[in-house]
Amino acid sequence: MSQPLPISERSPGEHVMNTYARLPLRIVRGEGAWLFDESGEAYLDALTGIGVCSLGHAHPDLAAAIADQAGTLLHAANITHLPLQEALADRLADLSGLDQTFFCNSGAEAMECAFKLARLHGHAKGIDEPQVIVVTGSFHGRTMACLSATDSAKVQAGFEPLMTGFLRVPFDDAAQVARLAESRDDIAGILLEPIQGEGGVVVPQAGYLAELRRICDQQDWLLMADEVQTGVAKTGEWFACQHEGILPDVMTLAKALGNGVPIGACMARRRVAELFKPGKHGSTYGGNPLACRAGLTVLDVMEKDGILERTRALGERLRGALRVGLDGVSLVREVRGRGLMVGVELDRPCGELVMKALDHRMIMNVTRENTIRLLPPLIASEAEIDRVAETVVALVRSV
Ligand SMILES: *Cc1c(COP(=O)(O)O)cnc(C)c1O
Repeated sequence: MSQPLPISERSPGEHVMNTYARLPLRIVRGEGAWLFDESGEAYLDALTGIGVCSLGHAHPDLAAAIADQAGTLLHAANITHLPLQEALADRLADLSGLDQTFFCNSGAEAMECAFKLARLHGHAKGIDEPQVIVVTGSFHGRTMACLSATDSAKVQAGFEPLMTGFLRVPFDDAAQVARLAESRDDIAGILLEPIQGEGGVVVPQAGYLAELRRICDQQDWLLMADEVQTGVAKTGEWFACQHEGILPDVMTLAKALGNGVPIGACMARRRVAELFKPGKHGSTYGGNPLACRAGLTVLDVMEKDGILERTRALGERLRGALRVGLDGVSLVREVRGRGLMVGVELDRPCGELVMKALDHRMIMNVTRENTIRLLPPLIASEAEIDRVAETVVALVRSV
């Protein structure tokens, strides 16, 4: 091992693996919709840690619940019954209509659980090598199975061999799925994001999910919704599938469920969930009392504050202000989204706007190279939402 440098000679972060292109910001504190750097400078957070902090930062109810839980019980193994885990599973069943939940610690882990259920379902149908249909523009996480299901050469490059068992079709094209149903008999299910996040905040046509639901019912395939980014109120419904009135067989959650306390969840209909037997899946931390207390508190606060109505109204306000402010700007292709998951697609790459936004004291990001993605906290004030819109309008008009 090379000798560690004395602290005085180290450059900040040199002992952290270099896996992220980081902004030149050193964030130490948050409050509501705002983040603060080491020098006390405030930044409006229009990204919420990539769709995580829907209740904003340092929410007093969540801070109190976490502190109380830390003084009561952080963790006990899943070899015992954990009442907080059962309580959160009950709440998620009530909100989603899906019967049972497996708890884990991240979106990628929730996806791994979904992939394992799909394989069990396929084998139960007598398929030797069950395939899962995935779509173009998808993002499902960074583990080996997740990156294999993801449609991104950048995410996959260097990690070959990829995991097999995925068939890719174009997003928002149910006819291609129907064609596969006619030509193959080794398919166990379909996986997609009901609104694509990393893929550029892409909302499919009305009726697409319902048509997939119909095909899955007919073929006995699992319809699996990755709601890691869309889930837990962000789009103005608890889950984005609910906009289309459909119930998937499997649904994954993470990001906003814990508001920053790591938690993931894979929910399923009873018939599918019961493919797991004791010993088939597990996670040391998964569903521990701290994470479940955080999840329960997030849902409590959201219900108490009428967050769905609020999110719908703020989303309309944000998209409306963006459309008015960007009217006639020829490089704007589309302002789209649902609730407070909003994308502004330009006709050219615009990654440099992320740095420029910092000059306006706002944090946002750009996906698919040409789409500004806004995920402001659902607790933002109308004035804060207006400021997000004004900043984006000024940035785009400066291009
Ligand atoms: C973020 C994300 C994931 C991965 O979640 P992690 O917690 O980063 O593992 C999976 N799917 C979607 C749609 C996501 O947005």
